[in-house]
Amino acid sequence: MEIVKSRQQMVAIAREVQRANRSIGFVPTMGALHEGHLSLMREARAQCDTLVVSIFVNPTQFGPAEDFTNYPRDLDRDAALLASEQVDYLFAPTASDVYPPEFSTYVTVEGLSEQLEGASRQGHFRGVATVVAILLNIVRPDVAFFGQKDAQQAAVLKRMVRDLAFDTRVVVLPIVREESGLALSSRNAYLTDEQKRAATVLHRGLSRASRAHREGERSAECLIQIVSETIAAEPLARIDYISLNDAEDFQPLVQVENRPALLAVAVYIGKTRLIDNMVLGVTQKKDAAAV
Ligand code: AMP
Repeated sequence: MEIVKSRQQMVAIAREVQRANRSIGFVPTMGALHEGHLSLMREARAQCDTLVVSIFVNPTQFGPAEDFTNYPRDLDRDAALLASEQVDYLFAPTASDVYPPEFSTYVTVEGLSEQLEGASRQGHFRGVATVVAILLNIVRPDVAFFGQKDAQQAAVLKRMVRDLAFDTRVVVLPIVREESGLALSSRNAYLTDEQKRAATVLHRGLSRASRAHREGERSAECLIQIVSETIAAEPLARIDYISLNDAEDFQPLVQVENRPALLAVAVYIGKTRLIDNMVLGVTQKKDAAAV
């Protein structure tokens, strides 16, 4: 595996790979890698000839009171993990390489960025869309892989790629969880053992609501209430939001209709803010499906 630090070097490599008619798969990350990240890389490895992973803790997607400074960073450990996953190139640029002096161009995806995470984290998706646009222009991947763990981010980026005509296909892969149900996250590293146990309440709440949905509950208020009661019973948890939105356009729902809905939560466990979600699918009636 080659570690690439500069924008110019990465652009030159990408051009060379393209000239050799080899496809590029790309997994952008902020490092502190875990099995969730690795699941994206394994799929990218299976689909593409050349695998590029980036590690960049992107300052523009963090709010001033957020954890940019403390975000876990361990490039040596991450690089060793990536080498064992047969990654070809690790792109680990510096902030000034991604954002040259007097940087002044930002990407805003309207309509999908204001709800949920966008409401709690002002400017977050502007930072995400901007950095991913830059990275896509540098790496020029045929396919870019993202996790459903950040469902709204995936939707924002899919829309950006379509609207701005990036020549990249976006693939979104399922959430990888611990056996306890806790969704893997780099931020889980902040949790004590007791907090980690408490954090399983996010998945428990979502699962209960999902079961109620399968059994016929369609009211957003009732489904949200199920999650809320479950999480409220955990003394270490403090709810930021629980929301039920259309899984595609992210408009808030009053009632789950015949389209997939996204039940999403953000919860503080101590000072650590965790997010999780579940898609409530469309359950086909047997006789309707047979028509
Ligand atoms: P991050 O390093 O947190 O920016 O994440 C990089 C990519 O990994 C994003 O596309 C995330 O959605 C994805 N990811 C993070 N956690 C998980 C998980 N538990 N399962 C699947 N994908 C994940």
